[in-house]
Amino acid sequence: MKVGVAKETFAGERRVASVPESAAALKKAGHEVLVQSGAGAEAGFPDKAYQEKGATIVGDRAAVYRDADAVFLVRGLGANPKMGRDDLALMKPDQVLIGMFDPLGEPRSIQELAQRRVRAFALELVPRITRAQSMDVLSSMATIAGYKAVILAADTTPRMFPMYMTAAGTITAAHVFVIGAGVAGLQAIAVARRLGAVVKGFDVRPAVKEQVESLGAKFVEMPLQTAGAEDTGGYAKEMSEEFLRQQRELMGRVVADSHVVITTAAVPGKKSPVLVTGEMVRRMAPGSVIVDLAAERGGNCEGTKPDETIQINGVTILGPTNLPSTVPFHASQMFSRNLTTFLKELTNKEGQLALDMNNEIHRDTLLTRDGEVVHPRIVELLKAS
Ligand code: NAD
Repeated sequence: MKVGVAKETFAGERRVASVPESAAALKKAGHEVLVQSGAGAEAGFPDKAYQEKGATIVGDRAAVYRDADAVFLVRGLGANPKMGRDDLALMKPDQVLIGMFDPLGEPRSIQELAQRRVRAFALELVPRITRAQSMDVLSSMATIAGYKAVILAADTTPRMFPMYMTAAGTITAAHVFVIGAGVAGLQAIAVARRLGAVVKGFDVRPAVKEQVESLGAKFVEMPLQTAGAEDTGGYAKEMSEEFLRQQRELMGRVVADSHVVITTAAVPGKKSPVLVTGEMVRRMAPGSVIVDLAAERGGNCEGTKPDETIQINGVTILGPTNLPSTVPFHASQMFSRNLTTFLKELTNKEGQLALDMNNEIHRDTLLTRDGEVVHPRIVELLKAS
């Protein structure tokens, strides 16, 4: 196959879908690799590094789409709602597109892709099964977001994270509370611990308690009915408004006593629950910091504004929506490894696409084929809209 790597066009996006090390792996698997000039530049991968691994640099984007059988993107249309549309005219029938498309959030964009008769695969929909872990870009990107959220918080708080015993007396450690301990939350806990903070965590899925404690943090126990909060896929279910009301009430004290709160609570396909109200923020000490990783999907904190920093009573609330892009070297490396493994899963020994609808990784990720949206969840969303 001829694999094309397009430069990202989403505003502020610094990642690239494939890095030079993956170009070498793709070549070894029998593919040809075409890279749009400058595609990796912002992530720290100049054209020369791709050429050294046997890739061909292509001057213009149209040529990547014209010559490639499969195009790799970090953000395809849907996950790149404005600029992504410009690529539609460049696509050709049966071309394979692999990347993130935000199909659950932007089903209409998937319809536009279908009209171009491409075969688009959404990496966000890789099933969370053991066999697919090496292709799971959501986990890779959440790992980076969790790490960077702590770094941002540490940089914003007027305090230091570790405890110090100095000639000038004892400096107490920062208290960090992480709400939602999935992939990003557990990474945030681990990094905050490594920086020396006193860390607490909470999640509605009871299984998480042990994971939080194994990282040296305290799991906040609350008299809430959490049995049944986890679905069969390991995700949280949507909790009732009454449950969330009780949760907010019980968490109020822990939030008020924390110097840093990092919120990561999400329910797939739903708006994120509001877990920290303005009232709770007002009870925090001035100088406290909240990093709301749920900002893109409405936010866990009342008042969060996506990609803005706001102040409520001296408390700073950050709502970053694309933290992986701020660590573009490693984010691209992880994304690229996941994507290369995914392509291997889609192809046979000869390197040709070998679609198999009995293979759940193929079935769960394929969005469009032969001019139609074929993913049942997206079809349903389109019907409902
Ligand atoms: P996510 O981003 O959808 O949610 C983040 C966290 O928010 C979850 O842990 C969820 O339980 C929590 N949450 C939701 N509502 C909450 C509330 N009201 N209060 C507190 N916390 C709340 O999830 P994610 O991090 O992408 O993944 C969650 C889980 O999925 C993992 O921990 C794991 O069990 C599973 N998973 C499995 C695989 C695999 O097997 N390949 C890969 C990744 C994740």
